[in-house]
This record gives sequence, C-alpha cells and structure tokens, in this order.
Amino acid sequence: MLLGGHSQGESLGEFSFLGKAISLEQMCGCGLKVADCKEWNKLYSQVLLEKNIDLKKQPYELRQWDTRASTVIDKKQQTRGYLFVSKLRTFMTRLHFMLPSFFRPPLPSSLKKGVENTAYLYDVVLETREKNFIVDSSKNFLKGIALYKSYPKKTKILLLTRDGRGVFHSKYRSGFTKKESFLGWYRYYSGALYYLKKLVQKEDLLIVKYEDLVTDLEGELKKICTWAQIDFEKEMVDLGFGERHLVMILALSAIKALN
Ligand SMILES: [Zn+2]
Repeated sequence: MLLGGHSQGESLGEFSFLGKAISLEQMCGCGLKVADCKEWNKLYSQVLLEKNIDLKKQPYELRQWDTRASTVIDKKQQTRGYLFVSKLRTFMTRLHFMLPSFFRPPLPSSLKKGVENTAYLYDVVLETREKNFIVDSSKNFLKGIALYKSYPKKTKILLLTRDGRGVFHSKYRSGFTKKESFLGWYRYYSGALYYLKKLVQKEDLLIVKYEDLVTDLEGELKKICTWAQIDFEKEMVDLGFGERHLVMILALSAIKALN
C-alpha cells in the first residue's frame, strides 16, 4: 500500500479477490463499492470492449489464481467442490515447481490461464489509470512465482516477513500450544522462503522484515525503491495522501485508522 502512494504506481490490494469484491459489493479504497468506483468502471468498460465480458454481471468470468477467503466468503463461488479442486491444483503446482523437468507435471491449465488473465488485467489497469507499475498484495506466493516465471523481466517479488519469534509469540498468545506455535513458525519459513529462494533470481527477490519497516519506515522504503528501480517519493510514507483504489476492505480501515 505504501508503494501504491508512488505517483507512477497503482496498488491493487489483494487483487485475486477482484471477482469476490464485485460479487459481494465490497468497498474499494476510495470509499465506494468496487462495482461503482469510477476507476474500476474504466476497467470493466475496457474488458467489455476487448473481451466481450461484463465483469459486473459475471465477476468470476476472467478467472485469476485460486483463492481461499476465510472471513468474508462468497458461498456461491467458494463451494466445497471448489476448495477440493483448488487444493489439488495447489499440490500439482508445487510438484510443477519442485520436480526436475523430466518428472514435472504441467501447471494446471486453469491456473495457467489465470496468470494470463491477471497479467491482462494489470495491463488494463496501467492503461486506464495511466500508471507504470502495479503492486499486487495477493498473499499466495505460488501465484507470485507463476507470474514471475511467465513474465520474469516484468516481475519482482517482495516478501514481507516477521521475525520468527514474533510469529511464535503472537500464535502462543492467541491460545495455540507451544508445539503448534513452533510448527506455525516453521511452516512459515520453510514454505514461502524455500520456494522463492529456489525459483526467483536473487536480484528479483527482496525480503523485508516487518520489524525493520516499523522502526525505520522511510529508510526501508528507500531501500525498496532502489531495488524496484523507482524514485523514492515522500508522499509514499503518507497513507492518507491521494485516492487509492484497492480491492480490500481491511486496507481501507487501515488507512482510516492511521489518519
Ligand atoms: Zn475506488
């Protein structure tokens, strides 16, 4: 979201949930519904023109990567069948990325198409909002890797991590046992980090510690900008600056809380 404050950048929040945000009439960062926001409406019009798909009527028609909502759920879309199949696809995707080429299964076709659709939607956002780069905060690291593998020259991955002890303590405090808290910490590191380090070139992967960001916001942002090859702009630190059109209601409450 901080990067989205850059004059050339557009932060999309958890973009994989665009379909759900339209379907459930969730709020955009600007305060209007995602279905009513003028910036998102420019995207719907262009998609209708180019692909003959009306996203307001068929929000899931341009499918992106699989999603799994845990709080606000579109029960018509996130059915038990969908969750089961998407688990299978995740398993196949892990095999696809991990096995040597001889044994490697292809990326599940719906996810492959999903990556193409996401890249297409990024382009439409860049064009309609006249920006140069997109920040997608979708939390699925496999989606990030798949995008990176399809568009390696155009994609960079930033992983915001928390200190292992921080993860452990917050789990332990929320009532998990010591063993469960340790396992949470272990999975956290072994999962995303293992895949990212193996599959993403060093210069395209940046790991930022949440604790460092909180301690020295401007310094860390400057480092991120250098890595992303964009100029640092002071306004980025000010979360209340400018209008933001994000697909994520939590982002909106965070902006309001900080104001
Ligand atoms: Zn908006």
